[in-house]
Order: sequence, then C-alpha cells, then structure tokens
Amino acid sequence: MNNILIIEDEQRVANLIKQGLEEQGFITTVANDGETGKQLAIVNHYDIIITDIILPGMNGIDLCREVRLQKPTVPIIMLTALGTTDDKVEGFDAGADDYLVKPFDLRELHVRIRALLKRNQNNNNLQGFILKYAGLELNLSTKIVKRDDKEISLTPKELKLLEYMMQNPERVLSRTEIAEQVWDTTFDTGTNFIDVYINYLRKKVDKDFETKLIHTKPGLGFIFKKIPHENKN
Ligand code: CA
Repeated sequence: MNNILIIEDEQRVANLIKQGLEEQGFITTVANDGETGKQLAIVNHYDIIITDIILPGMNGIDLCREVRLQKPTVPIIMLTALGTTDDKVEGFDAGADDYLVKPFDLRELHVRIRALLKRNQNNNNLQGFILKYAGLELNLSTKIVKRDDKEISLTPKELKLLEYMMQNPERVLSRTEIAEQVWDTTFDTGTNFIDVYINYLRKKVDKDFETKLIHTKPGLGFIFKKIPHENKN
C-alpha cells in the first residue's frame, strides 16, 4: 500500500484526486494549506507528495524546498494552473520530480505516480547491491570494487572475503568464522591460509591509502574498521 499526500487548497480538486487515487488502491491524506502540508510531509512517511503551487500559508515551491532538506528522496509532483517554462524550471529547481498542468487527466497523474514509484523502487534495490564503507565500495551485482573511485581488481576469493568483512564491519571475525563463511569449510587451527588472503587483500585495498581498513587482532582474528594511520594500533 502506498501513502500519498495531496496538498491542494481547492476542495473540489483535492477530492477529485483523492477519490481517483483511492480507487487505484492508494491511501491518501489531504492538506488544504502549505504549512500543514509541509508539517505532514516532514513528520510522516509518504511514498509520493502531490502539491499545488499557489497555496495559502506557504506556496508549493517553498514547501518543496523545505521538504527536500528533510526528505531528499521522496518523489514530489507539482500541480499548477500556471504552465509557463519559468514555473517548471522553478519547480524543478526546488526539487520537484514531475509537473502537471491543470486541468489534467487523472489517468495522466496515475502514469506519473507509477513511474515515480518504480524509479524509487529501482533506486532502493540498486542501493542494496552496493556495500559502502569509508570510501570503499563493493557492487554485489557487477562485482566491481572501488576505493575513492579508483577501481581495484580482486580474485573471486579475495572478493568473497572482502564482501564478508564489509557485511560485518567493526566486529572481530575469528579465523574459524571466516573459514566457514568464506571457504565453506573449517580449517585446522594453526593454518595461515586466511592470513595469506588477508595480506593479499591488504595489499590491494589498504596499501595505497592513508586510512587502513583491515586489521589483525592478535589471538582473536581480524577486524574491518576505519582506523586513521596515526592512531593505528
Ligand atoms: Ca491553489
């Protein structure tokens, strides 16, 4: 279920949009002035915000700007009777994602809403595929590793080891845990197999950078953690 906030001072138009969206299965909230709309938009979670531009209290452009500061990713559609290019530019500058000129067809509004919901869904999925820590990035779908935007080439095992460490940051990982999770096996204690791979990884991921991320915890294992060079221990 998607929640939609409608900010529109003309009761007739607000009701029309509300009914149309509820028929499509959306949950809607209506605010009749800019100030109320802004408060609702900031305090609650909405999947889409639809706002008129000329509103009592606070206009749609200012509202959009203020909401953007708090909610950088919520899709905002602007509605207005004004349709000049300047208005559109101002709306987009304020952070609106889309723009509809009144009078508009409800079907057109549905199309725009679906497109924005899909776009946000795709962005969320994509973000879930990239592990990020202290300038280091591992894209789980493309397997590309970058540190400070410089690409790092890793072997499949190194990649798997780094992936495991990045998924468990700032936690001591024992050699047994690493063996089980990365190699699907248990090693005899005393093997330096993992230490060898940790060193390979260090050479590629840490050697050329001031801040070291992979650290040995004597007697315990390893930790993936941002520790500045001067405080290294
Ligand atoms: Ca209005």
